[in-house]
Amino acid sequence: MKHDFAGIGMTSARTRTRMVERLRQQGIRNEEVLGVMGNTPRHIFIDEALSHRAYDDVSLPIGLGQTISQPYIVARMVELAVGAARRDKVLEVGTGCGYQTVVLAQLFKTVYSVERIAQLLDRARTRLRELRLTNTRLRHGDGFIGIAEAAPFDAIVMAAAPTYVPDALLQQLAVGGRMVFPIGNTEQELRIIERTEDSYVESKLEKVRFVPMLPGLA
Ligand code: SAH
Repeated sequence: MKHDFAGIGMTSARTRTRMVERLRQQGIRNEEVLGVMGNTPRHIFIDEALSHRAYDDVSLPIGLGQTISQPYIVARMVELAVGAARRDKVLEVGTGCGYQTVVLAQLFKTVYSVERIAQLLDRARTRLRELRLTNTRLRHGDGFIGIAEAAPFDAIVMAAAPTYVPDALLQQLAVGGRMVFPIGNTEQELRIIERTEDSYVESKLEKVRFVPMLPGLA
């Protein structure tokens, strides 16, 4: 489901190739994910003043106190998410600039994404429209609540760190589904929860650093 982004200024092919090489060295193995990361324009999501750093392995400010996640962490979370039993629906919590939304849109049939900050969501909408993606559903909402009407989700990917696992999201996870999320306060770690027929199985992964997941709309 790789999207054709031709015609929207896909310059920087070289820097994207270099980014993919670096992701490989950092341990990302899933070729499909690497292919999609190499195909996705990241520079258009970043302020012109900073766009020369778009493909560096850093997080960058996107306004309103938020950041676009570094390429490695996007690749890592998405790689874990595509290990779900099915790839029909994914829920992204924290649309931010919309970059990860675009990555997910090339790997899942439909992407639902919630963002609590209206202004960020508006900007993300404009960009996704420019990219002519038709399988993304953006919503101004609170990730602690999720999107019950669209559930169950085969994967849930959270781009902001809660201090506890939101119960609504556990309920909205499909059997065979995977939730990938950072958790914690000053010390955070990446975790996966897999839902089986009759339980939830949690695994703890590496230490990470995300913005906090906050309740309510802004
Ligand atoms: N994937 C995004 C990450 C942005 S940072 C990107 O690469 O641009 C995390 C985002 O989560 C922020 O935009 C923040 O506003 C949002 N967020 C924090 N708490 C939230 C909540 N409860 N519901 C929805 N979005 C939330």
